[in-house]
Amino acid sequence: MQRIGLGRDLHRLAPGRRFLLAGVEIPCEKGEIGHSDADALAHAVIDAMLGAAGMGDVGEFFPDADPAYRDAGSMLLLKKAFERVKSGGWRIVNLDCVATCETPKILPYREKIRAALAQALEADIGAVMVKGKTNEGIDAIGQGNAVEVLAVCLLERV
Ligand SMILES: [Zn+2]
Repeated sequence: MQRIGLGRDLHRLAPGRRFLLAGVEIPCEKGEIGHSDADALAHAVIDAMLGAAGMGDVGEFFPDADPAYRDAGSMLLLKKAFERVKSGGWRIVNLDCVATCETPKILPYREKIRAALAQALEADIGAVMVKGKTNEGIDAIGQGNAVEVLAVCLLERV
């Protein structure tokens, strides 16, 4: 049996924060704001994976109100969520993601990001794809004030 899941996340960007995608820091004037490290890609992937497994979402697993997750490394949360999915009898078939922001450029960091996700999810790097897009100057994303990530994840019963 195979199941597909969709995840989406958005974080505002502000000076003095790190810009992180799947734990990979990309040099940029602004970074993501939010609870935990605000890693939008890690959060979208968690939601896609938990959605496919029918196991809820990132907010249920790691509540904002829980001080244990303040400034938590989101890749650690991703690994925890994957462990739960794995113990439910699932493996990742493939994962595909789109990160939309005006800056920074994602492409130079893409292989590093793919490798980080593949390692965390015990998947082949060929099964993990990440694309960077801009929003053509339109809305808060286009004005450089936010980053949005979409992710789809296909799981297969082991
Ligand atoms: Zn988030």
